Amino acid sequence: MIKPRVKLAIWLCWFLIVPPGMWLTYHYDPPQISGFHIDIMAFFLLISVVAAMPIVINNTPIFLIQWVSLTVFLLFGLFIEMLLFQIAVIVLLVKLRIPKEQLFRFPLNSILFFIVSFCSAFIYYTLGGAHHVDFIHNPDAIWPAFMYGISSYAVNQIVLAFILWIVYGRKSSFYDKDFVWETATTLTTFPLGLILYVLYQEVGLLALLYVGIPFISLSIILKLYYSSDKINQYLQKATEIGNQLAAQLQVNEVVDLFIEKLTGMLPVDYAYILDVVEGKELHLLRSYEKGTIRPVDMRPIKKNDGICGFVLSTGKSALFNSKKEWKKFKTGYIPETVESVLSVPIVRNNQIIGVLFLASNHKRAFEKPQLMIVEILCSHFAVALENAKNYEKTKEYSEKCPITKIYNYRYFENILFEEFNMLEQNKRQRLSLLILDIDHFKKINDTYGHQSGNEILRELAARLTNLIGNKGTVARYGGEEFVILLPDMKKVDALELAEIVRQTIANCPFTLLQTFDHEGKRHMINITASIGAAAAPEDADDPLALIRHADRALYGAKRAGRNQVAEYEK
Ligand code: GH3
Ligand code: MG
Ligand code: MG
Repeated sequence: MIKPRVKLAIWLCWFLIVPPGMWLTYHYDPPQISGFHIDIMAFFLLISVVAAMPIVINNTPIFLIQWVSLTVFLLFGLFIEMLLFQIAVIVLLVKLRIPKEQLFRFPLNSILFFIVSFCSAFIYYTLGGAHHVDFIHNPDAIWPAFMYGISSYAVNQIVLAFILWIVYGRKSSFYDKDFVWETATTLTTFPLGLILYVLYQEVGLLALLYVGIPFISLSIILKLYYSSDKINQYLQKATEIGNQLAAQLQVNEVVDLFIEKLTGMLPVDYAYILDVVEGKELHLLRSYEKGTIRPVDMRPIKKNDGICGFVLSTGKSALFNSKKEWKKFKTGYIPETVESVLSVPIVRNNQIIGVLFLASNHKRAFEKPQLMIVEILCSHFAVALENAKNYEKTKEYSEKCPITKIYNYRYFENILFEEFNMLEQNKRQRLSLLILDIDHFKKINDTYGHQSGNEILRELAARLTNLIGNKGTVARYGGEEFVILLPDMKKVDALELAEIVRQTIANCPFTLLQTFDHEGKRHMINITASIGAAAAPEDADDPLALIRHADRALYGAKRAGRNQVAEYEK
């Protein structure tokens, strides 16, 4: 950001340098233009057209007007050349649609071109250059003109580097892409300027067409080339991102990576991914603001509500260049400073599964080609998201018990073997195991029904996972039996924990949601459970022995009267 103080200083410099400088030039070197008014108007037109067609590379406009200004200087002198150059600056900046807060770029460029015009002319006159010289019959006179070109280019580069350093605090490198481009364009365009001059002397105003038309065509071709080059780069990047998205297995990873890549690739200040819920509402899935992924409080969006609702109901993308364009939409959540908006439906199998909303604080931040790329990325995202959802579902299906939603025996067995491996590799010191069996569960089923039995299993599973937390793994062993695997826990501690578990079951009644007593209240029933404990390495050398021995201990607890904890004894 440029400080207001610096902007003011730039305007002040402009007032002190450019208007008085122009006046002095007019005073000491008055232009001889009588009879040439139409010609000057034609040159003015040509320079405006050329200035309006800058080639923008890496956000830097490459100025291709030196050759017209050379001809104008050789024909009409410094003042007219300066005037036309200044007009070109205005046309260029209008064409680039610089935002209000960057208006200072006008005086900045104006000063730059004033200095360039002045210094080049000074060198030209010093070397004995004159106006209306006949280069064909007097080829030696071409040298001052040649030097004029060189110095105009050199002064431009030096002053530009100085401005970048003073105003933007940027050390410019003379070897970057812009510099190479500018040198190349200048080298090719200066001879054009001489040709225009010579032709003008021979055929008059027709010369402007002879030289102008090929040049403008070239400028358009270069512009097309560059924009297709840019699209190719975007496409390549999109494919790369698509592959990276496809490699993610978790839904969260896919969503985070998508946001990360989008915000890295496009000038985005805000990004929101919304999920279609029940085919009619949009719920926020992920939000990105101020450089990070962070949650925001966004209410669900209905069809036709705001920009996202419009995208959801029409299935069409929306691109807005400024606030004025999207203001007519009744919108809920959009940060105050947003100007440009790009919103794209996320479509899978002809169905909209989500909406992407990108926004920038700057006007005209997004272009049509970017919209196309975002649409491609969204389809990659939709596929990756669906795959990840399927993966998570399949994984859950294969690892979890559908009734209690906790891990099943298969998962538990894998973890048990892994933990035992770690024990053998000395990465773990010990491993405790509890097996829990509900007492007289058959009776509960018989009294209240199988469904109520399931409810108790569900609540017990929830109590166990809450109680154990990240101390270990709780799994359903089968029927009404549960296992609790406790890595790095001593047997005494495991027994203590088992006692707490036993009490948590025995002391708090379980609620049966489906059944009511005669007063219409929910039924509360008391149950108890027996727990067996064993630990490695002291009780077992292999995983299956650990299970067997904990089970043996459980059998002991049952035999001793149930509702108690027992440990394995050899
Ligand atoms: P104890 O363990 O105290 O010896 O008596 P128990 O009645 O619990 O004995 P047992 O282990 O033989 O019976 C387990 C009962 O658990 C048998 C079966 O009807 C019931 N059961 C097993 N799986 C489920 C289930 O998924 N849901 C329901 N509701 N009941 C189940
Ligand atoms: Mg039982
Ligand atoms: Mg049992």
